[in-house]
Amino acid sequence: MATNDNKFQAIIAHAKEYGFVFQSSEIYDGLSAVYDYGPWGSELKKNIRDYWWKSMTQLHENIVGVDAAIFMHPTTWKASGHVDNFSDPMIDNKDSKKRYRVDHLIEAHADTLPKEEGEALLDAMTQLEAAGDFAGLKKLIDDNKIKCIVSGTSNWTDIRQFNLMFKTEFGAVASTSEEDNIVYLRPETAQGIFVNFLNVQKTARMKIPFGIAQTGKAFRNEIVARQFIFRMREFEQMEMQFFVRPGTEGEWYQYWKEDRLKWHLSLGIPQDKFRYHDHVKLAHYAKEACDIEFEFPIGFKEVEGIHSRSDYDLSQHQLYSKKKLQYYDNDIDPATGKPFGNYVPYVIETSIGLDRMFLLILSNAYEEETLTKEDGSTDSRTVLRIPPKIAPVKLAVLPLVKKDGLPEIARNIMNDCRDEFYCFYEEKDAIGKRYRRMDAIGTPFCITVDHQTKEDGTVTIRYRDTMKQERLPADKVKELVKDRIR
Ligand code: ATP
Repeated sequence: MATNDNKFQAIIAHAKEYGFVFQSSEIYDGLSAVYDYGPWGSELKKNIRDYWWKSMTQLHENIVGVDAAIFMHPTTWKASGHVDNFSDPMIDNKDSKKRYRVDHLIEAHADTLPKEEGEALLDAMTQLEAAGDFAGLKKLIDDNKIKCIVSGTSNWTDIRQFNLMFKTEFGAVASTSEEDNIVYLRPETAQGIFVNFLNVQKTARMKIPFGIAQTGKAFRNEIVARQFIFRMREFEQMEMQFFVRPGTEGEWYQYWKEDRLKWHLSLGIPQDKFRYHDHVKLAHYAKEACDIEFEFPIGFKEVEGIHSRSDYDLSQHQLYSKKKLQYYDNDIDPATGKPFGNYVPYVIETSIGLDRMFLLILSNAYEEETLTKEDGSTDSRTVLRIPPKIAPVKLAVLPLVKKDGLPEIARNIMNDCRDEFYCFYEEKDAIGKRYRRMDAIGTPFCITVDHQTKEDGTVTIRYRDTMKQERLPADKVKELVKDRIR
């Protein structure tokens, strides 16, 4: 059994070899923490996005979608707090010039210590972070003689804040001040929802409680960007902001916390691979927050956040835009017998990274399996047990040989099915080899057309997970696959 680190490296290599994920601009040696999705990767990513979108919008009457622009008025990011606060403390090693996020540096050191000492170090770090005490954090690094993994020295710069937003210039018009032209690449999709709160509420005639969902690119100039697509500088988020009446946020937070875990489990991923991490350290405006963590090969890590954000975001935009962002609630308040009236709604947010979810699916699906043959000898295969409903290819159609009219029959079956789900046709190489290639990209069903098909109209269907094969009438294939990918 490979160690987990080996498993992680094997997944990265597999993702490249089989056309899931490539390093961006690889021919120029790549761009750090930026990735491209290949033929099967883009298909899988789209399927995950569609699955989320359907579960949020189509299956919730009170949630609608938006598709907001990546560029937003720069004041948006003043109001949201990102200009002033969206930063991580970082430190450089003077000898190696390597830059670290302070919390990552201290956490990595804590992992090398006996349990109690490590915990004491992390407690001290949390307190200093909460107080914004950079001198104290630097002293903690010095006192613990924490070393750079590259130079092996403790020759550190002071700690500085590093804003994670990417900036660019807008338009070609000369401006009196360069600052006037600056726009940001959005670091989260959520603000595009907040600024459209009234547009959506009014045009879609939404009644509280209701939600607005969005998927799209977000950009963060992460200081330490490693671990493949777990932490990227350009990534995609799937976020939903749920607007509620103040006072009901506790129950809605609980609802979404449970509902989101159910969504993960609906993909057939075992429950013991997930856990909640409730936040102790909360932003001043936040009421409750938790992460859903998944056991990646690199350990339990956040895949999704659920946050009870009070009326902070809408109130901030109201303040900075000087436009009312309120809702008139004509439901009757039982305490007063009168309508609840005007208020700024409270918000529960669910925020998940699409790329991280993709990595979750790959991590859970990847298996190197040893097979024992009838004669006792062994063989192996690498299989991606991707849930059929999001698998990139659902059905491979394989004529046993390239002659005797078998390709034509196979093409006809393929043409009958391709409108309903993604099919893949292949006639090259021995059938066993073709099955292995389909296992490696996670295709749940393969059918083989052979000479018997010409006689009785049946084909062999082979199931990815069990490798079991059975015969069935060719005209039953479409229904079987449709049924299993629902
Ligand atoms: P982290 O603590 O890992 O930096 P975060 O708490 O800053 O994440 P949020 O701002 O809550 O993350 O973003 C919501 C989700 O977006 C995360 O749960 C994660 O799935 C995804 N995400 C955030 N940053 C990145 C990134 N750099 N690369 C890929 N996905 C990301």
